[in-house]
Amino acid sequence: MNVADSELIVSLMSAGGYGITDDMNEADLILVNTCSIRENAEQRVRGRLKLFGSLKKKNPSLIVGVVGCMAQRLKEELILQEKSVNLVVGPDQYRQLPELVRTSFGGSGVVQTILSDSETYDDIEPVHYDGNGISAFISIMRGCINMCAYCIVPYVRGGERSRDPESIFGEITKLIENGYKEVTLIGQNVDSYNFHGMKFRELLEKVAERFPEIWIRFSTNHPKDLSDSLLETMAMYENICKSIHLPVQSGSTTVLERMKRGYTREWYLDRISAIKRIIPECTVSTDIMTGFCGETDYEHLDTLSLMEIAEYDFAFMFKYSQRPGTWAERNMKDDVPEKIKVKRLNEIIEMQGKISEKVKKRDVGQIFDILVEGPSKRSEKEFFGRTPGNKVVVFPNNIYKKGDFLKVLVTGCTSATLKGTIYEK
Ligand code: SAH
Ligand code: SF4
Repeated sequence: MNVADSELIVSLMSAGGYGITDDMNEADLILVNTCSIRENAEQRVRGRLKLFGSLKKKNPSLIVGVVGCMAQRLKEELILQEKSVNLVVGPDQYRQLPELVRTSFGGSGVVQTILSDSETYDDIEPVHYDGNGISAFISIMRGCINMCAYCIVPYVRGGERSRDPESIFGEITKLIENGYKEVTLIGQNVDSYNFHGMKFRELLEKVAERFPEIWIRFSTNHPKDLSDSLLETMAMYENICKSIHLPVQSGSTTVLERMKRGYTREWYLDRISAIKRIIPECTVSTDIMTGFCGETDYEHLDTLSLMEIAEYDFAFMFKYSQRPGTWAERNMKDDVPEKIKVKRLNEIIEMQGKISEKVKKRDVGQIFDILVEGPSKRSEKEFFGRTPGNKVVVFPNNIYKKGDFLKVLVTGCTSATLKGTIYEK
């Protein structure tokens, strides 16, 4: 999400006459795109702001701006708390950025954080400045209306808005003209995409039909909304990658209820069965949070047991971090001691390690399509690519180049990657 927004900002700033540099020592303006989802994300930003403050000593005309979720959450407070900051701009006000930067010269601080119920930046073509040149994220919607009890997103990114499909198709067309081979359609809950009655299933089908030459991915699905008909559409089109990110958060129905997630353990497991039934080869990844308000040992064990059943290929795992203004912060107690949160987090990390190993071993001996992303970090003679299931395969290569599609036979695995050999073109 933030990558897509940074690309939008670069586009808007370029149109406003600004250029981009890789070297922060020569920058006249530094914009920090921020995340508020957990407290440590904000702490990292504050660390960076101190560093930029020290650059200001060398270059007093340097302007430092904070954009994104932390800007939206803290507004004026950020200017007061962080001496290096000149500019604070929320996620729905990026169009104003070039002008705000001009007016912030020498000023005491500019803050622009009004949220909009209609801004989707449809007409702005993002500049994909920092990617690998073959794979791009495309934002199809902004904001969220789900109001999960722990989550700050609806407060800092505003309500849900879907982007005009024509603008999505236009962006994909340009990407293909520029050599891109894969797009990932992103939104906080892609299942609730709705543009004047066009739902996500239909959008995905249209993208798959119009652009048969590229791979299509999407994220994030919400377990309460994931339908069989979406899975059937995925199964029907070869160019839709068979991989789903389905954040579970907890394996306990009572915790899910407190989280206001809108589904039970049984419902979630039924969705996992539906994935395996309709698309047997589909990989599934998830997000899990430990130590949410009131979480007991039994509830935690439910999460561990659900992980064993779901057999995730990959999981992002976090400790609950209480966020100001959320429903949980206003109405519940963050009562699981830090020590227990850490212990439970370590247990789920360990469990996922075992599952990943088991799942990877099953891939050995199988043939996969991959999209080549480039030489591997370790050796020039080895390349790496990703399978439709989003697994990395490293293979010896002196034939294929970045952006090629090919088949590999998986011959072995390490804890993080699969090893393979070229099978055929
Ligand atoms: N829209 C997606 C997730 C967005 S945030 C969804 O509904 O699943 C990404 C992940 O951050 C979440 O899935 C959750 O696991 C984690 N997260 C969100 N709020 C958090 C908090 N307060 N503390 C810890 N992790 C959190
Ligand atoms: Fe946050 Fe829930 Fe919306 Fe995801 S669906 S962004 S977790 S409120």
